[in-house]
Amino acid sequence: MIDTNSLPKILADVNAFVQETLLPLDTELLDKEWSVIEARLATIRQDVKNQGWWTPQIHQEWGGMGLSHHDFGQLSALLGQSPFGHYCFNCQAPDAGNMEILVEYGTKEQQDRYLRPLLAGEIRSCFSMTEPELAGSNPVRMGTTAQLDGQDYLINGHKWFTTAADGAAFAIVMCITDPDAESPYQRASQIIVPTDTSGFELVRNIPIMGESGSGYMSHAELRYTNVRVPKGNLLGGAGSGFAIAQKRLGPGRIHHCMRWLGICERAFGLMCQRAVSRELAPGKPLAQKQTIQNWIAESRASINAARLLVLDAARKIDEQGQYAARVEISTIKFYCAQVLQQVLDRAIQVHGALGITDDTVLAYWYRHERGARIYDGPDEVHKSRVAREILKAYRPK
Ligand SMILES: Cc1cc2nc3c(=O)[nH]c(=O)nc-3n(C[C@H](O)[C@H](O)[C@H](O)COP(=O)(O)OP(=O)(O)OC[C@H]3O[C@@H](n4cnc5c(N)ncnc54)[C@H](O)[C@@H]3O)c2cc1C
Repeated sequence: MIDTNSLPKILADVNAFVQETLLPLDTELLDKEWSVIEARLATIRQDVKNQGWWTPQIHQEWGGMGLSHHDFGQLSALLGQSPFGHYCFNCQAPDAGNMEILVEYGTKEQQDRYLRPLLAGEIRSCFSMTEPELAGSNPVRMGTTAQLDGQDYLINGHKWFTTAADGAAFAIVMCITDPDAESPYQRASQIIVPTDTSGFELVRNIPIMGESGSGYMSHAELRYTNVRVPKGNLLGGAGSGFAIAQKRLGPGRIHHCMRWLGICERAFGLMCQRAVSRELAPGKPLAQKQTIQNWIAESRASINAARLLVLDAARKIDEQGQYAARVEISTIKFYCAQVLQQVLDRAIQVHGALGITDDTVLAYWYRHERGARIYDGPDEVHKSRVAREILKAYRPK
């Protein structure tokens, strides 16, 4: 753990770095292929390493900064101001979640082969769970199977929305290993599949809102056809797939929410700049209109409220563990996604036609972050969980 007294300086330095080095990259890179982006960001990633900011969420023993969820959340919000922030600091989803579970559940062999190069930023990874044929909101229903065949698992199945599979060195794949287990939560396991294994097929990068993306910035449809991997690629015990998945989800939601709040801050700043500089008539900027003022005041209030909710959830995870914080985690997931959509939409509206061009970063986020209300559990699932927990106290005795 870093000394908490040094955190304000680290945050100030990281913010300056994001403003000076990363924000100018939007217009230069956002329409480029991943290979171009990756090459352009390589030296920046090295600078981040040299500054001692690499993998901030990972324990120092593994070469990270060892930040708590609460402290990493604050840093994550700064990185979120740039679409490249988390990648440059090696704390991007889904690698960050994969690092966390490999640290906790990986065998020494798995850690040497997959975790260490991931931590070093030499390779990327992906997490392959959702399937096109079955509702992802009820993840216990899964068609992908892994059958033991001698000393190997033989994997067959169809997945999609596997973020960043394009160019990833390995996938962590959720598969049914024991379809007869009494509890549906003990039927699945997580298995590491190197993406150069025969039978692993990247069918396509799925077009999303007009863009297929590439490399890290893509979501793939995948087929697993008789994919053979050694038994030693099983993560944790057989049947522990959901228990491990739960473990990554709580911290993952803090990371996503704070990243979204970084996007909100950026969009808010752009909205305010445009409001004061765009004149409807000489000396009459948009900022004088009450509707615009309302949007600015309401956006500020909801971003601040969301930030406090997320930091409260992060502190609860740090102090009491993620099970104790499950209501707070679900609350921030739907609340922050809603704030994100609203702030982005208002910022675009204030920019008029410019808002929907790719001349600012707003349209990129509008396209790419509509998914925030869907991934890691749709809004409705989280609201339902929050309400059920609340209602327990009101049940008739
Ligand atoms: C950008 C993006 C990235 C993703 N990355 C990954 C990844 O890396 N790996 C991976 O495995 N998956 C990933 N996913 C998939 C994601 O986890 C699923 O989309 C999500 O779990 C929802 O599943 P579904 O799409 O099958 O929707 P469905 O389960 O079919 O649900 C459809 C809709 O039904 C409604 N609904 C569902 N349940 C309820 C309920 N209980 N009450 C009321 N309404 C309900 C909601 O409105 C929901 O949006 C990603 C998705 C997106 C959009």
